[in-house]
Amino acid sequence: MPKQTFPSYSNLCGWNAMLPPRTPRPPLQKDLVVDHAIVGAGYTGLAVARRLHEIDPQARIAVFEASTIGEGSSARNSGFTGAEVLPRTATLASADKARRQSALMRASFDWLKDIIVDNGIECDLQQVGSIRGAATEAGEASLRNVVEVAKANGIRHTELSRADIAERIGSEYYRFGVHLDDTYLLQPAALIRGLADALPKDIGLYENTPVESLTRSGSGWELRTPGGVVRARNVALANNGFIRRFGYLKLRMTTIFTYAAVTRAVSETDLAHLGQSPAWGLLPSHRLGTTLRRIGRDRLMVRSLYAHESEVPNDEAFTKLRDRFTRRWPGLKHVEFEYVWGGTTAFTMNGAPWWGRLEDGLFASGGCNGSGIAKGTMLGRHLGELMLGKGDPAKITDVMGTASLIAPEPFRSIGFHIVSSIESRKAGLES
Ligand SMILES: Cc1cc2nc3c(=O)[nH]c(=O)nc-3n(C[C@H](O)[C@H](O)[C@H](O)COP(=O)(O)OP(=O)(O)OC[C@H]3O[C@@H](n4cnc5c(N)ncnc54)[C@H](O)[C@@H]3O)c2cc1C
Repeated sequence: MPKQTFPSYSNLCGWNAMLPPRTPRPPLQKDLVVDHAIVGAGYTGLAVARRLHEIDPQARIAVFEASTIGEGSSARNSGFTGAEVLPRTATLASADKARRQSALMRASFDWLKDIIVDNGIECDLQQVGSIRGAATEAGEASLRNVVEVAKANGIRHTELSRADIAERIGSEYYRFGVHLDDTYLLQPAALIRGLADALPKDIGLYENTPVESLTRSGSGWELRTPGGVVRARNVALANNGFIRRFGYLKLRMTTIFTYAAVTRAVSETDLAHLGQSPAWGLLPSHRLGTTLRRIGRDRLMVRSLYAHESEVPNDEAFTKLRDRFTRRWPGLKHVEFEYVWGGTTAFTMNGAPWWGRLEDGLFASGGCNGSGIAKGTMLGRHLGELMLGKGDPAKITDVMGTASLIAPEPFRSIGFHIVSSIESRKAGLES
């Protein structure tokens, strides 16, 4: 049986379920000829399409999405974003690289904010900052390095004690933290739905249309979908870890599933447990750590767990997320989860994305390593320029780096399991 070329999930996306229902655009049901075909309607793919249209409004552009908008990873994430690059493992030696990446990200992040404002996209975009939190001594040591880089790069921040964090989030779990003022929080399903709806009307968007194969055809490319064949001069693979399913970048990235849960609305008497900040988000100091958010007035979100290439059983995801939640808020043990879901993200060995031209007329961008709202937008925008022979591609790879080689299977899976069990032990209470 041929390998499925797109992701499928056992649970619906909670962020999408919290919004009013949306009618998807119809799938492709005929053959089509276009100048530019884009595989995947996440942040990367929609940025490619919009940028192509901005530069060449006459171009025939079509985007193909295997699922529906609001059910892909662009909606399944935790909704932390911003232009400021400050990696969890940042040290002073890497401060200059982070500064150059931030400068590159800023123009595209401003472009994204303008699209949101100009189109009235209601995605709860708020610049409330984020907390990096450490629950262990090792986590605190690594966060103190982050503080040094924040100082060196002029990133606005405040150090937080256990009491400061407890006051803000209602949990005494964290011993040290740093508040980074420039982070934005948003409703990711609302954003990706808004971006899709705000695409210029000349751009074709076909939902429930998985691209099943990609072959060279004359001087262009042929894409097969269940409802029709597409011929295109240029193709952009914007389907993240699933780029590999077309035979490309197999040794550059891997797909990791991670999980999130959102509670039911808590009662008025329980509201005090959610802290005094009306909106907050907390990112972990360890790579296997747990992300937390307050959602609206009365819900909490927990994101944690990693699985390599395939989903973990639902009851395992539920039990582990529950454990993370009750350790942080023992006083909310009785509050149930309303939504639990998984999502994919593409990881690369050195943390750098893969971006550029694969062959004549074939381009790709993937491997945002868990920060694809801003990075996917930036890389997609520049990929659109590259497809039209514009921009300076060397600048992107020079500043962002390029995904290094990764071990082939079965060594990759074995390596993942060894590293994740060592790291889980190291993460301890950060998980
Ligand atoms: C639980 C979770 C939390 C996260 N938290 C954050 C966060 O707080 N901030 C942040 O910036 N990032 C976060 N991320 C990562 C972020 O979601 C990704 O980096 C981002 O979605 C990447 O965008 P993309 O457009 O490159 O890929 P995707 O969002 O994966 O979009 C690719 C699209 O391609 C479609 N597709 C795949 N194959 C095919 C095919 N063959 N034919 C047609 N369509 C296809 C998919 O259905 C998908 O919709 C998180 C991810 C997860 C899972």
